[in-house]
Amino acid sequence: MTIRDADDDSGLPGLMMDDLPLTTNWILRRAATVFGDRPVVTRTPDGGRHRYTYRGMAERARRLSGGLRQLGIRSGDRVATLAMNHHQHLEAYFGVPGMGAVLHTVNPRLHAQDLIHIVTEAADRVMIVDQALWPVWAAIRDQVSVAVTVVVEDGTGPVPAGTLPYEQLVAAGDDSPLDDVVGHDRQAAALCYTSGTTGQPKGVMYSHRSLVLHALAEAGADSIALSARDVVLPVVPMFHVNAWGLPYGAALHGSGLVLPGHDLTPVGLLTLMSETGTTLTAGVPTIWMGILAELDAHPDRYDLSRLHTMLVGGAAVPAAVLQGYRDRHGLRVLHAWGMTETTPLGSVAHVPAGVDGGPGPEGDYYRLSQGRPAALVEVRARGESGLVPWDGSTAGELEVRGPWVAAHYYGGDDDGKFTPDGWFRTGDVVTIDPLGYLVMRDRTKDLVKSGGEWISSVALENALMSHPAVAEAAVIAVPHPQWQERPVAVLVARGAERPPDEELAALLTPQFASWWLPDAYRWVEAIPRTATGKFLKAALREQFRDTLGGAEETGEVR
Ligand code: ADP
Repeated sequence: MTIRDADDDSGLPGLMMDDLPLTTNWILRRAATVFGDRPVVTRTPDGGRHRYTYRGMAERARRLSGGLRQLGIRSGDRVATLAMNHHQHLEAYFGVPGMGAVLHTVNPRLHAQDLIHIVTEAADRVMIVDQALWPVWAAIRDQVSVAVTVVVEDGTGPVPAGTLPYEQLVAAGDDSPLDDVVGHDRQAAALCYTSGTTGQPKGVMYSHRSLVLHALAEAGADSIALSARDVVLPVVPMFHVNAWGLPYGAALHGSGLVLPGHDLTPVGLLTLMSETGTTLTAGVPTIWMGILAELDAHPDRYDLSRLHTMLVGGAAVPAAVLQGYRDRHGLRVLHAWGMTETTPLGSVAHVPAGVDGGPGPEGDYYRLSQGRPAALVEVRARGESGLVPWDGSTAGELEVRGPWVAAHYYGGDDDGKFTPDGWFRTGDVVTIDPLGYLVMRDRTKDLVKSGGEWISSVALENALMSHPAVAEAAVIAVPHPQWQERPVAVLVARGAERPPDEELAALLTPQFASWWLPDAYRWVEAIPRTATGKFLKAALREQFRDTLGGAEETGEVR
């Protein structure tokens, strides 16, 4: 006996307001009303402070929309920014998508050829550029076709001829509401290119819906826990992955915002944090290494009594950094993993239930891991013979999916990065433990393949950076006549002391199999950085490629 004869799988319609589009205008309305008095503080180019509230910001964002409309910008057009973290950039974060256009944040640290490529591919109609970044734009503007250049004045003199001052654009716009302008939340809102650590930059096109859901997720207690009691200082640039979505998250949840402008020095940032009572700050590890050194040198100079979270991601946080902040300064580092393609919140490293949350190795295993996937993000890892078990020891390439994970690249070059069943292939090699914690072993392109066996550079770097004389360590694969590749450690000294190779090898020996130990240690003044401040291993591999005698003529080198 069956319930019915014919198959009918259409289900019963839900009776909720599912058609209300989740757009950045929802965030803006909430910020302007419920959180209208919450502060937005910017360090200005002359070293002063610009202060207003979300109410004031929202009005100017709406006027910016109006000004752009008068210029002829329409829904779907790309409006680019070449700008640091400041209130005008925040206005663009809402004013551009709020009218249906697409905010293309351009990374000013990219190479000129990359800039030309991405501005051309994005077909940007307007470029909003900081006066201080004018030389970056001047070097490429003749080689791209952007109709209008808008300059964010910094008071150092008149804006270059033939450009429109930002203030004039805002003043020209009317303050009409943006409420119903964007009718569809799958519509594109923002565009960001990957920083190209491992190849040509690729465009990631965020929809309104993905930005709103991502902002919502940033309030989770096991996520970043943004709240209306927070004051957030994103060190992570607004030109890369929407400053990790923090401007949208802060505005949605009523956190105050502090924007450091062009001063990213440890002293400048620490001064700003002290003065504004910053509670949460965020950036890549290299930033926190510099700030830790300044705090160690002047432990009593700054008042960080309200700072409860330093969010670190974009590269693995070294144990010495997490422990240094905690043990010497009572500050909490919260480690997270993400990518441009994941908006970027992917996973966050909180200590799970049942584990002692105090300082110590048990908690540190979790705190130093890449964490558990955020709500609505799913993970799996694939090895050479299929998906790997969640046993904490079998490594595979991490694949993710979720409503704020890219489904395609802009420009169409998906390049085998998406699986046939709809997951994004990250290029990161991880293990996943039974509780769902990811531990990143390497990037597929950074792994060292020695005699057919893989060596993880990340683990070696972490161990080397625990030596007090080592400020920074990057372990790279170098061609080797017998073993295809062997690891070489490239080091930056903290002070004048450069410990001998034997001392470094002795530090590593108890922790690693002997064949993992680097074949050579090389000291450099500085490790080259990518446009987002990560170690640029490709440049190091090139620089040190002959260190071990090179590959055999016929040898296969990855
Ligand atoms: P790019 O790929 O050009 O560097 P992204 O900013 O998108 O630009 O970087 C994403 C990559 O950064 C990840 O694929 C991963 O390799 C690395 N990454 C991000 N967060 C972490 C982390 N917490 N630990 C280790 N690596 C990380």
